[in-house]
Amino acid sequence: MSDTAIPLAGVIGSPIEHSKSPALHGHWLKRYGINGHYIPMNVAHDDLAEVIELLPRLGFVGVNVTIPHKEAVLELADLVTDRASLIGAANTLIFHKDGRVHADNTDGYGFVENLRQGAPGWSAADGPAAVFGAGGAARAVIASLLETGAEEIMLANRTRSRADALRSEFGQRVHVFEWVQAGNMLEEAATVVNTTSLGMVGKPELRVPLDGLRKDATVTDLVYAPLETAFLETAREKGCRTVDGLGMLLFQAAPAFERWFGQRPDVDAQTRDAVLSA
Ligand code: NAP
Repeated sequence: MSDTAIPLAGVIGSPIEHSKSPALHGHWLKRYGINGHYIPMNVAHDDLAEVIELLPRLGFVGVNVTIPHKEAVLELADLVTDRASLIGAANTLIFHKDGRVHADNTDGYGFVENLRQGAPGWSAADGPAAVFGAGGAARAVIASLLETGAEEIMLANRTRSRADALRSEFGQRVHVFEWVQAGNMLEEAATVVNTTSLGMVGKPELRVPLDGLRKDATVTDLVYAPLETAFLETAREKGCRTVDGLGMLLFQAAPAFERWFGQRPDVDAQTRDAVLSA
């Protein structure tokens, strides 16, 4: 790519039609008057390697990566950050001018930053964290909580073996609970996180009994459609501080935007509105 070319970025996944990332990056490009484009691309698994090789030659400075390619891109990258290796997945690729592909994962950063902004004064070191779910998103959540000072993580997942696998990877600060006893994690928990897809539009609700929830707990949900899930509503009614999942999506995108387009973007009410109204 020549230095005067218009920078291109985008998101690759399949399906890709529902991604909020084009609205988010499009908003920032417009807001900062940057002459660039952000494009959603539906990429099949069999085309992934070829697409990643081709995109830099077309003028792409990088892409976001979403389901189902987040794990597979690690194999195709020349450089993988420690946090992407630890999580076992990447959500951001940066195409260097020398042809190297750099894979990073900013989901954990987005998760922690959302809590810091949404619940001022919150710290992972406030006390034990309770995490529902052990899928891809849970890996980023657990890695970032441990990295930022959580001493203990209580983890429950419908499929116990996936929670056990995370304990093996992340070590003894992770304690696995049976899914049917997930409510028992709450009595001790200072931070409570739903990383399952339960509560999302079109999915059943998260039905863990929340009676044990401490009033001083900070409660967050990765689901952001709806913005206030039944889980968050119950927590709010119990007097807990609640933080919705939209901010995680916004904050995880900011470092990538800065790397690609050279401007650190603001995450504020205007940004939220731009994404919600898209
Ligand atoms: P995933 O890898 O497919 O994991 C899904 C998780 O949900 C697993 O723990 C799964 O349990 C659990 N689950 C699904 N259906 C269930 C049911 N009927 N009963 C009990 N547990 C159930 O998905 P993911 O990538 O981790 O994403 C999880 C959620 O986080 C999605 O809603 C996604 O949109 C959201 N997310 C949000 C952000 C953000 O920026 N806010 C970022 C990433 C993800 P099993 O292991 O038993 O199947």
